[in-house]
Parts: sequence; C-alpha cells; structure tokens
Amino acid sequence: MIKHREVDLLLNYIPREGIAISFYLNTDGSERNKGVWEIEAKDLIKSARKQIAGLDLNRKFVEGAENDLRKIQEIVMLEGAAQKYRSVAVFANAGEHFYQIYRLPVPLKSKIVVDTLFYVRPLLALLEERCRVGVALIDSRNARLFEIYMGEIIEHLDFTTKAKTEKKPLLETFMKREKRLMQRKEEEIRFHITSVADLVKNHFSRNHFDKLIIGARKPIGEHLARLLNRKLRDNLIGIFDIDIHASENEVLSKAAILEKQFELENDERLLRRIADEIEKDGYAVKGLKNVVEMLHEYNVQTIAVCEDFATEGRVCPLCGMPHTEGEICVRCGEELVSVPDLLYDIVEEAARQGSNVRHIRGQSLILSLENVAAIIKFKRGELTHLEEAVETEA
Ligand SMILES: [Zn+2]
Repeated sequence: MIKHREVDLLLNYIPREGIAISFYLNTDGSERNKGVWEIEAKDLIKSARKQIAGLDLNRKFVEGAENDLRKIQEIVMLEGAAQKYRSVAVFANAGEHFYQIYRLPVPLKSKIVVDTLFYVRPLLALLEERCRVGVALIDSRNARLFEIYMGEIIEHLDFTTKAKTEKKPLLETFMKREKRLMQRKEEEIRFHITSVADLVKNHFSRNHFDKLIIGARKPIGEHLARLLNRKLRDNLIGIFDIDIHASENEVLSKAAILEKQFELENDERLLRRIADEIEKDGYAVKGLKNVVEMLHEYNVQTIAVCEDFATEGRVCPLCGMPHTEGEICVRCGEELVSVPDLLYDIVEEAARQGSNVRHIRGQSLILSLENVAAIIKFKRGELTHLEEAVETEA
C-alpha cells in the first residue's frame, strides 16, 4: 500500500547530489498490451540514457543513474500483463540511495524525466484525487482499525491492542463497588466506546486517513459516530453492519461499496456545478477545445475527464502543452506532433499547472459536458476594469 510516510518523503525530497530519475509508464491493459508498453519503456529509457550522456556529470553519478535505469527496465519486464494497476511510477536517485515504486489504479501518461528534483506532479494529482479511508470496527469489547487506499487495505494492529489495554476503571467504579453487575457492565462499554473514539481521533490527527467509515452491529456504530469531534464527523462516509472478526477482504469489499457511492456523489456534485456555471456563463467550460484553451491560459482550477474517452490531438514535444489545432506550440513555438490520445497530455498538463484532476467513471452527465470540462479560475476580461482602477489611482 502507498504509505503516507513514503509520499511525504518523496514530496519533501531535497536534492543534494546524484541524478533524480522519475519514470511513469502507462500499463493499462484495457487498451494496450504488455508488448506495447515494454517497447515504450525501452524507448523512454534510451532517451534518458542519451540525455544523461549529453550532460557533463561526475562518473559516479552517471553509473548510479545507469543502475537505476537498469532496475526500472527489470521492473517493467516483471510487471504482469493482466493486472489491476494501470500505471507504474518509479522515483530513483542512486546517488542518495533513494528508490520508490508506486503501482497506480489510474492510467497516467508514460514519461521519463531526468533532473535534480523528482517530477511528482502527475502522481500528486492522482493521490489528491483519491481519499485515504479509515475503517473503524467496534463491538462492546473490541475495536480494530483498517486503512484503505487505492483499492488496498492494511490493518493497524497497534490500534486493537490499545483499545484493549487502555481499559482503566473509572473512579466511580471504585466508589460504588456494590453496584449491580449490569450497571458495571454498562460503564465498561461506555468507557470502551469513549476511548475508541479518542483513539480514532488520534489516528486521524496523525494523517492515517482522511475519510472514515464505521463498521459495527447496531446501535454501537451510531454511538461511536456521535462521540467523534466535528471535523471527523464531517469526514464520516457512513456506517455499515459487520462482525468485529471480519476478514480484511470482507472489510475491503463492504467499505468499497460505501466509498464508491461517496465518490459518485462527489463527482455528480462537481459535474452539476460545472453544468450550472456553464449555464449562467460563469466559471466553467466544456469540450476539448475550450478546456485546452484554458490550459493555454493557465486558467484551470479543476478538470473533469471521462475515463473511457479517447481522442487524437497534437502536443508540443518540448514542453508537453496539448493542442487541438495549429502547427506551432503556443507556449514555446516548437512544432507540434500528433498523439493518439490527447487526454493523457491534458491531464498531465493540468497536473503540472497544479489544477485538481478528477477522472470520471459511470456518470452520464460527463457526456453532455463533451467528456472533458473544467472549473476555471477567472472569466476572460473580468479583471480588466480592476486594472484600470489601479492605474487611475496611480
Ligand atoms: Zn511547447
């Protein structure tokens, strides 16, 4: 599973020495086969070698980079053809013994970047798109915590131990020893739910997850939900019925249903917002041509693309800017080349510009938005008179 710690390490990477290689490979089996992406990987690695050879660098670093490229080549050969992952990303710098690999459920554009810093934008956009879900299981005596991210699940075993051992009797229990057994039992359960709520809050504040699902028999899940703080309650996706001893797979599949529902609602809300904005000539555009134009103007806040949509287009071989028309790149003047699937380049450029990216699946509304649409930052010309006002002041 992709760990928060790992991502943190990558994002806060400060280059000191060596060559940082960032490698992305689209391994999407649905439209491409292993043969296709193996060739693509070879070409990318070859181009990186050429680039490194052209730089005047310390031999030790060049050898390290060569090792990294060989390692990447091996990974590609070992990737299975039919798999649930749709792209692979590798970040390596032998000079600093840095090496990370990510297997991702969304197809990203194949690319290799040789630099002093890692090229993390496409990965970052994808990570931001998917939420990390915590699943807290609870019954009257026990509790467990799972973390689900990009279709993978792990259990936090320390959570179970803490939920058990932190059972400190209330002062009240000592004071009324003669209390009936039933009352004592209720007190224990109260204490248990309360301390589990605290533990869940604790893990949330340590960034172990950003959305929460509770799994429990009625009504204990609802009680736990009530005891969470407001921030955590706002991030509660739902409660499902499950046994405390359920298997990881059972937890994963039940949570996936709630998560999918939640994502669908989110996507629908975004698409409705885009449609509303377009309706009133506001802060959104739809259709390939308009969205690409907004990218040219660095004016995209959030982009929504239909996952199954493919279309030809042109892209700048130098800076990567996507185009729907013309011969010359609007950004750098380079001659454009044709690509079979412009959408990968659009998503990549949006990510590079720091826009939010949503891959939309199973929403009919995206079709009426011509498969690609965007929330924009500003409307054309809306700030013109503002500048005039400043000028008059001056
Ligand atoms: Zn260009």
